[in-house]
Amino acid sequence: MANSEGIDPSAAPPATICLDCEAIDGWWLHLRRCAQCAHIGCCDNSPAQHARLYFAETGHPIMQTFEPGEYWFWNYSTEKFLHGPALAEPTSRPEDQPAPGPRARVPDNWRSLLRSSS
Ligand SMILES: [Zn+2]
Ligand SMILES: [Zn+2]
Repeated sequence: MANSEGIDPSAAPPATICLDCEAIDGWWLHLRRCAQCAHIGCCDNSPAQHARLYFAETGHPIMQTFEPGEYWFWNYSTEKFLHGPALAEPTSRPEDQPAPGPRARVPDNWRSLLRSSS
C-alpha cells in the first residue's frame, strides 16, 4: 500500500543528534526522524520528547526510527506503525554515537529519569 502523505524520501537529516536537546543542554535515549522534513528529535522515553513535540508543532505525522538496524515508521496521528519507502541517507545515527547520548550530558541515574512511552 502506498502511503506518501507525510513522507518525503528526498529530505536529508541536518544532523544525527537531537538539536533541540543540544539547545537546552539535554540528553536523549533514542532518536526519531520526521519522515517529511527529516528533523531529528528524541523519543518518547527521552526526558524532553522532542520528536513528539515537533509533531505537535508542525503537524508532520510520520516518523521513522533513527536507530541503527531499525526501519519501522510510526504515525503519531493514527498511533499505528506503517511501512514506508527508503529515506535519504543517513537513515540512522552512527553506530559509535552512544544511546543514551550525548555521553558528556547523560546523568548517572538516567534510567530512573526515563519517561514511560504512552
Ligand atoms: Zn531532544
Ligand atoms: Zn517534519
